[in-house]
Amino acid sequence: MSKDNKQAVDSRSLFYRTVNLSLSENIGRPILWIIIPCYNEQEVLPITAPLFLKELTHLRDTDRISDKSRILFVNDGSTDNTWNLITEYSKKDPHYIGISQSRNRGHQNAVLAGMMEARAYCDITISIDCDGQDDIGAMDEMVDQYLKGAEVVYGVRSKRDTDTFFKRFTAESFYKLLNAMGAEVVYNHADYRLVSARVLNAFADFHEVNLFLRGMIPLVGFPSAKVYYERHERIAGKSHYPLSKMLHLAFDGITSLSVKPISIITSVGVVVALLGFLGIIWAILMAVIGKTVSGWSSLVCIVCFLGGIQLISLGVIGEYIGKIYLEAKHRPRYIISDRTWKPYHREYKE
Ligand code: UDP
Ligand code: MG
Repeated sequence: MSKDNKQAVDSRSLFYRTVNLSLSENIGRPILWIIIPCYNEQEVLPITAPLFLKELTHLRDTDRISDKSRILFVNDGSTDNTWNLITEYSKKDPHYIGISQSRNRGHQNAVLAGMMEARAYCDITISIDCDGQDDIGAMDEMVDQYLKGAEVVYGVRSKRDTDTFFKRFTAESFYKLLNAMGAEVVYNHADYRLVSARVLNAFADFHEVNLFLRGMIPLVGFPSAKVYYERHERIAGKSHYPLSKMLHLAFDGITSLSVKPISIITSVGVVVALLGFLGIIWAILMAVIGKTVSGWSSLVCIVCFLGGIQLISLGVIGEYIGKIYLEAKHRPRYIISDRTWKPYHREYKE
C-alpha cells in the first residue's frame, strides 16, 4: 500500500474509532461486505457464488481487504430453492452469510436491506447482481479507488455489446430520460457500486420509502470515482426486469428525485392557456363578422386536446400525491425474517 493510501485509510480508521467501536482493531485493511440481492436465482447461484468467494479471497491475498470480509446474500422472498442454497453455502464457508426478506420487495429494497445490515460491521460494501452480468473482477479497481480516497465508486458499463439492441436502446433511453427530467444519475451505472460505511451512515438518514438508489446515493455527496467494465450476458436463469418493470423503475426514479414533470405541466398549461386565449379572440372576431355557422370540427378538436392535456396533468400530479401517501405511512422498507448469522454489534436488538 502506498504512503498516500495508508494515510487516507488511517484517517478513516480514526473516524471509525470514534463512530464505530467494533472496527477499532481494523487499521489498514478495510472489511468489505459484498451485497448480492437474489430473487429466484437457483440456477445461477451455484455458478456465481464460488466466483464471488474467489474474488474475495483474491482481494484478501493481495492485501487489499481484511479476512473479516463477507459475502452477504439477500434473499428477496424467492419462491424457489435460493434460500436453501444460501444456508448451505454459509455452513460450508464462514465468508458466506445470508439474510432473507419476509417477502419479495424488489431489487432496490433488497440492496438497501443488505447495505443497512452491513454498515455496522464493515468499512465498505459493494453491491452487485448475482447473475454474473457485471464483471466481478472490477472489484479490484473499486477497492483500489477506495484506498485512494473515494468513498463511493460507481461501476459504469463501458460496452453493452452482449445486450440485445432492444435492451440496449431502452436502457440507454432510460438514463437520458432520467437526466432530462432532472433526476441526476451516472450514465450507464446500475447498482454495481462500492459505498463506504461512512456514506451509508449518512445515507441511513434518507428515510424515503420510494427507493431509487442510483439517484439517491449521489445526493449523499462525499468523494466518488468511476470504474469502467464490460457487461456480460446473464450466466443462467432469466432477467427479472422486463420492459414494463424498467418503465416502472424509470417513472419511480423521476418522480422520487425530481419535480420537473410538474414544472413541465405548468409550462404546457401556460402555452395551452395562451392558445386558448387566442382562440377566444378568434371566436369573438368570427362572431362579430358573422361567420359562426360551421365550426363543429374545431370545437371537437379543442375539447379533445384540452381534455387530454388535463387528464395527463392530473395523472402526473396524482403520481406525486400517491408518493406522498406512501411516504406518509412510513412503513418499513424491508423486513428481515431470517439470518444465517448472528449480529454481534452492540446496537443490535433481536
Ligand atoms: N432481484 C431481486 N428482486 C427482484 C428482482 C430481481 O432481488 O424482485 C435481483 C436479481 O436476483 C438479480 C438482480 O436483482 O441479482 C438484477 O435482476 P436481473 O438480473 O433479473 O435484472 P437485469 O440485469 O436483467 O436488469
Ligand atoms: Mg441481470
